Amino acid sequence: MHETSVAESILSTILETAGRVNAQPVGATISCGQFNALNDEVMNFAFETAAAGTVCEGMTLTIRHVPLRATCRQCGTTFEFDIYRPVCRQCSSAEFVFKPDAPLLLETIEFKDGKE
Ligand SMILES: [Zn+2]
Repeated sequence: MHETSVAESILSTILETAGRVNAQPVGATISCGQFNALNDEVMNFAFETAAAGTVCEGMTLTIRHVPLRATCRQCGTTFEFDIYRPVCRQCSSAEFVFKPDAPLLLETIEFKDGKE
């Protein structure tokens, strides 16, 4: 499953960072785009499972979903793509090009003593 491999890779990065700064991680924020979107519930479970027995056990994982953006070919407006209303916000044109999707990213790690 997509989430399991993401959880494992994120966990190893957090463990590595925690070891380097010698602090206990308490939370982390990851962001993802629309094409590589994570299911929050599955992701939290996968992370909990992977983190069990490590210093990351009990950490809070926050998942930020970054909307897909598109630029209109008619008026040049860049807008957040909405699958239920796939037209330009400005001129209602259906001709637009997608911006690159947001990558899957580990944004921040919070540590117990406030270090980052
Ligand atoms: Zn437009």
